Amino acid sequence: MRHFMTPPQLNDEARNRGRENALTARRRRAQIKAELRAGELDVAQLLQERRDLAVSRLRVHEVLTSLPGIGPAKAAALEDAASVPGERRLGQLGSQQVQAITAALATRRAARSPRVVADPQLVVLSGPSGVGKSSVVAHIRENYPHVWFSISVTTRAPRAGERDGVDYHFIDTEEFHRMRVAGELLEWAQFSGHFYGTPVQPVRAQLQQGVHVMCEIELQGARQIRAVDPEALLVFLAPPSWEVLVARLTGRGTESAEVVSQRLDTARRELSAQDEFDVVIINERVSHAAGAVMAQLTG
Ligand code: 5GP
Repeated sequence: MRHFMTPPQLNDEARNRGRENALTARRRRAQIKAELRAGELDVAQLLQERRDLAVSRLRVHEVLTSLPGIGPAKAAALEDAASVPGERRLGQLGSQQVQAITAALATRRAARSPRVVADPQLVVLSGPSGVGKSSVVAHIRENYPHVWFSISVTTRAPRAGERDGVDYHFIDTEEFHRMRVAGELLEWAQFSGHFYGTPVQPVRAQLQQGVHVMCEIELQGARQIRAVDPEALLVFLAPPSWEVLVARLTGRGTESAEVVSQRLDTARRELSAQDEFDVVIINERVSHAAGAVMAQLTG
């Protein structure tokens, strides 16, 4: 009987290996859920990988509730719509069930695409540098496509990966001043030696069509919008604490003490402006902050 001859340490090894595999699979599942939450992983894509050992153990309900904007009730509604029990594991799903889930999610997405509302709002998103405004904006863009984002003009050079007409309209200083003098900017500011401004015409056009508009700008611009449009909703994104902001602003550790202290002075000034805003949202977690911004909108 061969197995009587198996040395006991092999059993230990096998057990350890099993434990390690289970740990790796658990870590992978946690990572998948984090990616879903951050909008970095698509459910359709995940379902294609449902034979993968770690993926196969995930339950439909935990996958759906990992998606931004989907809580237990919305997940249950999607499970009903797809006729798939929430406790079913992905590895147990047949291709028709996969299609039904994908279709239910697509229907939900379509219902949220660019949408005309009765009371379109102009939302100004501002806050100190380092607070994570652009991550919150990226999250809203990805997960709440029915909001239109203003694309600013700027005289600064594009950074790696930035696209003209998507991240900004990159223009020269002459064109910037032409626009400013011609009254084509809703607001403008100079920041870190460059000019930034919000073209007014597209903002007006979207609002007139009944679409919510958001713009992510710095403080001086937010104040100008407050002055010209008292109806605009001013949202201030704040850090969880001063210490967190300091850590974010000094984190890279590559700048001189002088630059760091200048940055902290600016941040202190920016933070003290939060009382001028209609709403203050603490950016503890990007998806939660984005959800809180969206909760301010009607329709
Ligand atoms: P960045 O150069 O890092 O993209 O942006 C620098 C700062 O300019 C950020 O605080 C950003 O919110 C702000 N900003 C971007 N576009 C505009 C704009 O059109 N007007 C104003 N006032 N600020 C802007």
